[in-house]
Amino acid sequence: MPAPIVVVGGGLAAARAVSTLQDEGHDGDVVVLTAERHCPYERPPLSKDYLRGEAGRASLYPLPEDWYGQHGVDLRPGTRAMGLDPAGHSLTLSDGSALAWSRLLLATGSVPRHLSVPGSDLRGVHYLRTIDDADHLAGVLLPAALEGGGQVAVVGDGWIGLEVAASARDLGLDVTLLGRGSHPLGAAVGPELGEAFARLHEQRGVRVHRRALVTAFTHSEGQVTGVDMADGTHVEAAVVVVGIGAVPEVGLAAAAGLDLRPAAQGGGVVVDGSLRTSHPDVFAAGDIASVPSPQYGRPLRHEHWAGADSTGAHAARAMLDAADPYDVLPYFFTDQYDLGMEAIGWIEGPGGYDDVVVSGSLDDREAVAFWRRGGAVQMAMALNTWDRMPDAEELIRSRREVPREELEAFRG
Ligand code: FAD
Repeated sequence: MPAPIVVVGGGLAAARAVSTLQDEGHDGDVVVLTAERHCPYERPPLSKDYLRGEAGRASLYPLPEDWYGQHGVDLRPGTRAMGLDPAGHSLTLSDGSALAWSRLLLATGSVPRHLSVPGSDLRGVHYLRTIDDADHLAGVLLPAALEGGGQVAVVGDGWIGLEVAASARDLGLDVTLLGRGSHPLGAAVGPELGEAFARLHEQRGVRVHRRALVTAFTHSEGQVTGVDMADGTHVEAAVVVVGIGAVPEVGLAAAAGLDLRPAAQGGGVVVDGSLRTSHPDVFAAGDIASVPSPQYGRPLRHEHWAGADSTGAHAARAMLDAADPYDVLPYFFTDQYDLGMEAIGWIEGPGGYDDVVVSGSLDDREAVAFWRRGGAVQMAMALNTWDRMPDAEELIRSRREVPREELEAFRG
């Protein structure tokens, strides 16, 4: 009996990998190890409808809880892989046992970056990554909303910070957003669209602080009461949510001696176009995978739902020796208030583009924005504009110089 294919991880990449193994007709044993007590789940709702109490637990599961048993997949929640021996084709598990594998997929995702200032361990200071985090946070936001208000400070103005701020405002809470840069979202989109998101939040009543350097959290008897900043400003808050980014969970891969990408190049586990790591029988997918991009001519690592979905599926096919080189453009989305956004492509932070051309109106938030470099479109973002991603992808893939007038007319 050959050893099973083992998947380490409990997010979307893991779920998509096991469903793809089934779809591809794999009839050997499959084991899924996930450190959390839950079956594999998707995280986007944790800062949106699930956090606001509008969606139930079952909506988080890409595969129903009973799917694993029904398909003969040995799902082991609450089981962490503690050690990996690639040469010996074995894992050491948190219960002390060993598990042999024939092929292994690492889909260990990310963990929140922690803010290290005085008071960061106080009661009332939250991070948001897991179902348990979301339940904990909802457990304070929802009662505060029912009681008619409460002061929330969100530290970090990236996607998760903005989404939490929007959810807290939707619940009727008093929200202050604290970001370190001159505009939200930093280098991920640049100032043009960063300011559009700042305006959205300000119009909804969020106080948006720019260049806010948090120095400490204040408290009363261990419960947070506010945030101190370097410029002497103090923001009162009964609830603080810290969303200052995430780091890929590469500990297992690193200890096993698999090749890692330097942090300056995006970090993560080095994989080839088959999502194979530096060991031929070990694959990586989702947030941890640093994947060569034929379009951009360099490896990319993304922390997006769609990347977990497509790399999870691709790695499963590759483990069955049935995959072409991975060539999917980065895609991501967000929902804030009545704004739905989706984006495709990639820009290399500050200086990674020459200009931004807008079709439609950013003020009305009905627009498609294009980031160009040398006249060629690198990334496109659609605000409350649907079904145009295939056209945007075609423009990006063409690599041609696209005149400003053509882009301005894109929405028709
Ligand atoms: P994860 O979802 O992080 O799952 C990894 C799992 O592996 C975890 O359960 C972890 O406990 C487990 N694990 C780690 N190490 C081990 C081990 N040694 N043994 C066993 N198990 C282990 N993306 C978007 O595109 N749009 C959005 O709107 C959006 N919203 C988001 C909102 C929130 C609150 C968060 C946190 C993320 C959001 N994302 C969004 C990002 C998206 O959810 C991630 O990119 C995606 O979850 C990555 O999936 P993954 O399977 O790689 O890893």
